[in-house]
Amino acid sequence: MASFRETGVLSSQDLAGRLPSPERLGRGPCALIECVEEIPCNPCEDACPVGAISVGDPITNPPVLDFERCTGCGTCLGVCPGLAIFLLDLSSGTAKVTLPHELLPVPQPGEEVELLSRAGEPLGRGTVVRTRRAETTWLVTVELPGEGLLWEVRAIRRPL
Ligand code: SF4
Ligand code: SF4
Repeated sequence: MASFRETGVLSSQDLAGRLPSPERLGRGPCALIECVEEIPCNPCEDACPVGAISVGDPITNPPVLDFERCTGCGTCLGVCPGLAIFLLDLSSGTAKVTLPHELLPVPQPGEEVELLSRAGEPLGRGTVVRTRRAETTWLVTVELPGEGLLWEVRAIRRPL
């Protein structure tokens, strides 16, 4: 599989070692940080109330997440300027992903939305189960029709 340096789009291969396990997600929501470039940025580290994210020194280190410490609160999603953090959850018998969303109007619970891959390709439809605000960013939680989509869905849009 080609690297994101060739395609411009992250793949599961690029994220090896950064994905929380299904066993961890079965115990409750956990963050997934899709930030792999060496850029000078660390608001996620400062914002996490339980110290689960480490950037350290130099500030260009890509963030590292302690999956066991993460409580799935969603605070880091609201401060990431790259919209690069998501919450994954398998704890209630269904697969749910929480996405930072900056398009208006914000989808509401019960609404059906189109699911999109990292490349913006359609992946079917899911149902919004929760909408909330973290800092200046809306967080939209979507129930997915299959667990496999948890690793692929990274955006949503209202059906045309
Ligand atoms: S979801 Fe909450 S606990 Fe987990 S890394 Fe983000 S801010 Fe920290
Ligand atoms: S705030 Fe976002 S872009 Fe900045 S280091 Fe953290 S995950 Fe990466």
